[in-house]
Amino acid sequence: MTNKVALVTGAARGIGRGIANSLAKHQWSIVINYRSNVEAAKETLHMVEYSGGRGIVVQADVANLADHQRLVDETLQHFGRIDMLVNNAGMAPRVRMDILDTTEASYDEVMATNLKGPFFLTQRVARLMRDSILQVPIPKIVNIGSLSSYASSVNRAEYCISKAGISMMTTLYADRLAEYGINVYEIRPGIIATDMTSAVQEKYDKLIDEGLTPIRRWGYPDDVGCAVLAIAEDLLPFSTGEVINVDGGFHMRRL
Ligand code: NAP
Repeated sequence: MTNKVALVTGAARGIGRGIANSLAKHQWSIVINYRSNVEAAKETLHMVEYSGGRGIVVQADVANLADHQRLVDETLQHFGRIDMLVNNAGMAPRVRMDILDTTEASYDEVMATNLKGPFFLTQRVARLMRDSILQVPIPKIVNIGSLSSYASSVNRAEYCISKAGISMMTTLYADRLAEYGINVYEIRPGIIATDMTSAVQEKYDKLIDEGLTPIRRWGYPDDVGCAVLAIAEDLLPFSTGEVINVDGGFHMRRL
């Protein structure tokens, strides 16, 4: 049994839970970070343990940089290492508003959660990885982006901008950290069935039925979990700054 440790932000529900589960089935230990839904986080922990992994639940708001130190400290106190950071926590705007109407408050909240928080959490963890404090053989970092990094949705501009930022963040950290043997990846999900997309389920049901994605089904959190697992298990050792689309083929231009 390995004792590799993944710190997965926003692992209480949705895609983060799918990632935690996929890793746990391969005996990873998981730090299940959540912001507010402790019951969901505990449920993820039960699933992780049922799948054969170990885990702890740690409350921290990734948008609040003051929480980062505690998140990392609790991880190290419990497991003593971080083999992989998965920046998954993210939010859609609370209200979808046209780009001509959206507010500074919505912009700031979404950017702090989806981009500023992951940027500085990555900086903190990458320094530890660089300084070999963590003593792990092949550390890696995975950022959960979105098709919204290149597909325009004018009623959630701040979300699209935050995800475009995640793409460049992946490139920057991949470039900077390669010399330390730390590979950095972006996984770019398409339309995945989670709480985040439940409000627009009917709209996407129809679009998918009509052929929006070549693979005509919703994606599931486990689809993303499989891609993270491939990275976790070192199946992409000569790739960094790489984008892996998990989107049923949405990204292809078609005639
Ligand atoms: P979700 O179902 O809404 O779950 C979001 C998770 O993130 C929850 O566990 C939530 O914690 C946590 N979270 C939110 N803000 C946080 C914060 N400030 N600090 C710590 N944790 C926080 O969303 P999802 O669909 O799984 O999305 C996960 C990631 O995938 C996001 O980055 C999202 O942008 C991206 N993505 C999703 C889709 C999709 O179709 N669903 C597509 C492309 C990309 P609590 O439970 O405590 O609230």
